[in-house]
Amino acid sequence: MRRGELDTFFNPRSIAVVGVSRHPDKIGRVIYDRLLSSRRQGVLRAEVYPVNPELSELYGHRVFSSLSEINQEVDLVVIAVPSSLVPQTVLEAGEKGVKAAIVVSGGFSEVGNDQLTESLRRAIKQSGVRVLGPNTVGVMDAYTGVNTFFTREVKAFSDGRNAQSFIFPGRGSISIVSQSGALAHYILDTLGERGAGIRAVACVGNQIDVSIPELLSYFANDALTSVVAVYVEGVGNGRELLNRFLELRRNGKQVVVLKAGRTLAGKRTAYTHTASMVGEWETHIGAFKQAGAIVVDNVKELAEVSLALSLQKPPRGRRLAILTNAGGFSVIASDLAQASGLEVIQLPEDSVEKMERLKGEGRIPPVAVTTNPVDLSGSADSAAFEEAYKIVSESGVFDMHLLMPFHVPPMMDERVVSKLAEVARASGATVVGCDTGDTEWSVTMRTLMVKNGIPAYKDMEDAIRVLTLISDVFTPSRESFPVYEARSSEALEPIVREDLLELVSKHGIQAAREEIVFTEDEAVEAAERIGYPVVMKIASEKIVHKTDVGGVQLGITDRAQVLRAFNKLTSIAEKLGVRERGVVVQETAQGVELILGSKIDETFGPTVTIGIGGVLTEVIRDFITLVSPVQEDEADYMLNRLRLSKLLDGFRGYPPVDREALRKTIVNFSEILVENPSIAQLEINPLMAYGERIVAVDIRGWRHRP
Ligand code: ADP
Ligand code: MG
Repeated sequence: MRRGELDTFFNPRSIAVVGVSRHPDKIGRVIYDRLLSSRRQGVLRAEVYPVNPELSELYGHRVFSSLSEINQEVDLVVIAVPSSLVPQTVLEAGEKGVKAAIVVSGGFSEVGNDQLTESLRRAIKQSGVRVLGPNTVGVMDAYTGVNTFFTREVKAFSDGRNAQSFIFPGRGSISIVSQSGALAHYILDTLGERGAGIRAVACVGNQIDVSIPELLSYFANDALTSVVAVYVEGVGNGRELLNRFLELRRNGKQVVVLKAGRTLAGKRTAYTHTASMVGEWETHIGAFKQAGAIVVDNVKELAEVSLALSLQKPPRGRRLAILTNAGGFSVIASDLAQASGLEVIQLPEDSVEKMERLKGEGRIPPVAVTTNPVDLSGSADSAAFEEAYKIVSESGVFDMHLLMPFHVPPMMDERVVSKLAEVARASGATVVGCDTGDTEWSVTMRTLMVKNGIPAYKDMEDAIRVLTLISDVFTPSRESFPVYEARSSEALEPIVREDLLELVSKHGIQAAREEIVFTEDEAVEAAERIGYPVVMKIASEKIVHKTDVGGVQLGITDRAQVLRAFNKLTSIAEKLGVRERGVVVQETAQGVELILGSKIDETFGPTVTIGIGGVLTEVIRDFITLVSPVQEDEADYMLNRLRLSKLLDGFRGYPPVDREALRKTIVNFSEILVENPSIAQLEINPLMAYGERIVAVDIRGWRHRP
């Protein structure tokens, strides 16, 4: 069922723990103790060998002074020794024929000790041992019982009193790949408290050898995993990571990602709106989504969305039914849902009639509200909930159900959960639950829901947020992202106007009709050829934002205005020292102003950005960035994700934009940087979209100086 080199980390036949201390609170010892107790409980089947040259016996077991002393084969070694001894321990492991090692010890690059890191790297290479870490809590496998977390489930306060300190979840289908041990703990604890399950956890630490993408590939081929929660800080080879997300999705797993480092200001030279607006953060988010991942904003969402997807499928659409016995909750939940873009649509007429009939028969309370949200009122009991829910579910018009059986009214008891769960299972919809409070009753209600396959939340806000996040999953159709060879950044120079026009037209993008003129007469002739009204602007590509210097004159309707504009523009150009490039006379385009930009991202290579454009684009900040080249389905996803995508459906008397034509334009444009590695930044702003006509009005580009 499971294969590959990494299997040894999760399913070894034998484990040696190097650094098992006499002191019960030392990390190596805590790990050893847990492994032993897991063996005693019959969960862990692997043999466990303690190693420490200063000990000879522990709990009546022999403690080995070194790995080589162990006569049996050792598959996995857990190393919890002072950092200076780690490289040597890895070498010894290699000699012993060990396949994998988890280096728990810290004290490497994370504290600036690059020399020690280098010697560990050499030891790994020489020994052939696969290493997870260093500086990691390691792995936990709920099925095999391998667990190197040094967390205690029960701890004593300083006065000696014991208290629960942590709850390891039972078996489930969520796997966690994390760059932080603390974060993995957060998720585990959340899942444990909720009675939810886990498949396995791997924390990569400094990622000197075994990497996040490799682990993702492992879980992509793991039958027990249905959801992978990923926490990343730094991403090395962006496209490799994306390819592993694709592999996971292809194999039917969901991917939930939290990326840290939002405030990191990328090193970038902003010659274009795209470059100043689209940072590393935006690129990571867009790229992850393009690869089919759900991107969350915080740790809580990482845990909650993973939990939801381990129990439920993402919804097919955004239509939500709400069922409760609490009027206030129904109103608030409905508001929250609509504010998040979910659709709280009407319950169909015949379903309402069925509800009313139930009322007549006294099977649901006479005061029940039988529209969506359905509010059964405080006098509803479990049976009423079940009957009403059947009607809602059988209506078949909802993609998701939010069930809020508030436990407080006297008629309500916990049996409602199993009744609802039965209907939920048959419904084919995505179902989540909610009950408020921290009392034993509240917690029991939620735990029961989870046990019955319904992810349950204490707060409505969380329930709605989870539904919103899981209803925005892109299903990639591509096989992979082509590998991109990074080009070291060099000095850039602007691409001249004529070349830009040629470049975009070669890629099937239409540019607004224009002529460059140098005299008044030429200006008038050009305007007459093009047809009034025309637009005139400074031609020089050195002026990054022409509007800012008064370099764009719109709505020119006659000869006199042409002359005035020409003289004004030439005098501005003169002052700026760019007069020799002349003045552009351009047709007046109309429609929705979009921005279509491209740049090279350090992590992902060429990217493409589409957004609401014009001179206010950086203020509006409505854009999405994906990895180039994009396909049509991805371009479509991009357009649908814009907050103002409604503008494309026709506004201010404009005809609706031809989506197909716009998709093609995005696809074609995204290929330019891929095919022309000398170009570093390229931007059309605005790209004017009017019905079928998609025209590039203002193009700029920067290339590496040869
Ligand atoms: P810059 O971005 O350098 O300031 P643009 O050529 O993009 O210069 O012009 C600024 C704004 O003027 C555009 O965003 C658009 O609103 C308007 N504009 C420019 N050219 C045209 C045109 N040919 N037709 C219609 N509007 C135009
Ligand atoms: Mg512009």
